[in-house]
Amino acid sequence: MQEHPEHTVGSYLDDAAAILSIGAETARLDAEVLMGMVLRRPRSFLHAHPERHLDPGEAAEFEMLVRRRFSGEPIAYISGVREFWSMPLRVNRHVLIPRPDTELLVEKALVRTPEDEGVRVLDLGTGSGAVALAIARERPHAEVIGVDNSPEALRIARLNAQVLKIDNVSFLESNWFDAVRGQKFHTVVSNPPYVINRDEYLMAGELRFEPQDALAGGDDGLECIGAIIDRAHNYIVRQGWMLLEHGAEQQRAVHRLLEAQRYYDICCYQDLAGLDRVTECRFVE
Ligand code: GLN
Repeated sequence: MQEHPEHTVGSYLDDAAAILSIGAETARLDAEVLMGMVLRRPRSFLHAHPERHLDPGEAAEFEMLVRRRFSGEPIAYISGVREFWSMPLRVNRHVLIPRPDTELLVEKALVRTPEDEGVRVLDLGTGSGAVALAIARERPHAEVIGVDNSPEALRIARLNAQVLKIDNVSFLESNWFDAVRGQKFHTVVSNPPYVINRDEYLMAGELRFEPQDALAGGDDGLECIGAIIDRAHNYIVRQGWMLLEHGAEQQRAVHRLLEAQRYYDICCYQDLAGLDRVTECRFVE
């Protein structure tokens, strides 16, 4: 970055926004988030005090953060937080960054999850805990279990539960249903990896910073979804529901897999962009 004769918040922000605009559409916002991190102040402070001087330590830290962002690293990994369901969640490179589209999964799962005492919910591949925590917060009488096969992800999920003081959720290390054998749930939810393995999308842009294990769903993208569908009916109470997030092109394939295993009331919902994103179903023996 250039030398700043004024060394002010405003001049550093202008410069960083210009640099970041080469790669990111949210350049100004990103620059402000990074400056806020350095100064440990909200963005409103930056707007109110553009003339505030940066000392050399602050300037160096800011420039380092701008460099990380310029290399393509998602702002959520640099800042370590991402908002989901109005909750600030801790995230790091071991977990997928929660997407706004996944709020649809929460919204539809809540419709199918009664508010009663004793209701049990299972979230498969919980990552940062986003879906499990949102449901637990909205259903304080329910017992929510989030499972993941990554111990690093579970550390983040547990930290989120602790920081947000949500205590009706627990997190278990598990290969899908392994750690909950013999148990039954009213609602099973999952946002599993469903991107096609060699999809160039995986290697593009910011996605390359995210855990590939949390994104890649095999050659057809349906490996994990298929494994869940095969086993889920053993874990759902009679008339209970399962809700799965999937790719926009996978709706028909998911529908077929569910029908083949005698799930019924199969219904697909569209995300904010109007794309098929969440399929729900129930199971009867
Ligand atoms: N919706 C995510 C994306 O397209 C993928 C999430 C997933 O694989 N579970 O980036």
